[in-house]
Amino acid sequence: MSELTLYNTATRQKEAFEPIDPAHIRMYVCGPTVYNLVHIGNARPAVVFDLLARVLRSLYPKVTYARNITDIDDKIMKAAREQGREIDAITAEFTQAYIDDMAALGVAEPDLAPRATDHIHPMQSMIAELIVKGHAYEAEGHVLFDVKSMSDYGALSNRSLEDMLDGARVEVAPYKRYAGDFVLWKPSAEDEPGWDSDWGRGRPGWHLECSAMIAEHLGPSIDIHGGGRDLIFPHHENERAQSQCSHGGAQFVKYWMHNGYINIDGEKMSKSLGNFRTVRDLLGQFPGEVIRYALLSAHYRSELDFSAALLEQSKASLDGLYTALRQTAALPEQAVDIRESAGFKALMDDLNSALAISELHALAKSLNRAGEAASPEQRAELLALGKMLGLLQSDPEAWFKGEGEDDAEVDALVQERIQAKLDKNYARADEIRKSLQGRGIVLEDSKDGTTWRRA
Ligand SMILES: [Zn+2]
Repeated sequence: MSELTLYNTATRQKEAFEPIDPAHIRMYVCGPTVYNLVHIGNARPAVVFDLLARVLRSLYPKVTYARNITDIDDKIMKAAREQGREIDAITAEFTQAYIDDMAALGVAEPDLAPRATDHIHPMQSMIAELIVKGHAYEAEGHVLFDVKSMSDYGALSNRSLEDMLDGARVEVAPYKRYAGDFVLWKPSAEDEPGWDSDWGRGRPGWHLECSAMIAEHLGPSIDIHGGGRDLIFPHHENERAQSQCSHGGAQFVKYWMHNGYINIDGEKMSKSLGNFRTVRDLLGQFPGEVIRYALLSAHYRSELDFSAALLEQSKASLDGLYTALRQTAALPEQAVDIRESAGFKALMDDLNSALAISELHALAKSLNRAGEAASPEQRAELLALGKMLGLLQSDPEAWFKGEGEDDAEVDALVQERIQAKLDKNYARADEIRKSLQGRGIVLEDSKDGTTWRRA
């Protein structure tokens, strides 16, 4: 079997994956801040790391995949104020919306989905540890991480302290010893959510949330930490600083993985440009499987140009794959091990989903070519590779029918037409065909009977 290689952001090269403990792989991905419907950019890491988890589970006996929910954040507090709603009501609504949207994209639930507000105590313990070890200091109700106390701060993002200060995201504040220091704890006003602590009533900084939840659930050192490219600095740099400095320098993450940006209609996605696309909007127009296919159609590290044209192409590609499955539906089910297949080898090479998808099409083409001579193994390999990618798991007939609310009525009309033909009432049979055609439903007669699909 080929070896799994992954591109490691920390070393800036592709490396053979050698787990800390092959008996138990530990992976963490930064999850959403739950105050609105997620956009397509947030769906990319969810889908990419869902695929990685599937590959890892096929290789190792135990994989623990954690993806957090950030349910305390200034953006959530702002949304609550603007909408005149309780914070808990907003976070409950959008946590569920996220779970539903990701399920529609075929993203399996991670093993653990820790929520920040359930981990205030471990966060406070980590802060206390950092203060004791000389990596953090208290100032005006804040606790700050002292970046100059860590000799290789900046190693993950490959930035010097000067580079970092040039970045617009460093907040200058009078209580900081150094402008690059970042917040571990900040004070909460009376009307803001807060927790009592040795440093006064307040709330944790965002970076700290992930460090504390990782330590709590997965331990001080993990195999893989993932997220979008935009998280490398400052978020992941700061997670690394907190975790390594509170754990006596132990390596926090062995392989850092980051997915590329999404451009919408050729422009970098941003709300101000008006090209903000929520997954929910897209799900109103396309099946979740089409969106998943589109997200996996490019290598995860490359930028992805997201557009209606890409979704249309993805739909047509899936139609082609499902056509091959439909035409061979009578073949018996077969168990296959795809780990020696070209498609799986593509995934082993830094998760090359684009190449794996082209293998799906090669398999479908050979199935189509074989026609009645197609073997159960060929069909099973297509289905098994599809399953690894989280694709092709629908019933082919259902795929072409779509999920119409009038399926039962259409079925009844199709039955009535069959009866009309048996009764030699061709006028009625024709009338039914035409009326269904008018509703975008295509009938296909064959020696085995009549099937229908939406055009
Ligand atoms: Zn994080």
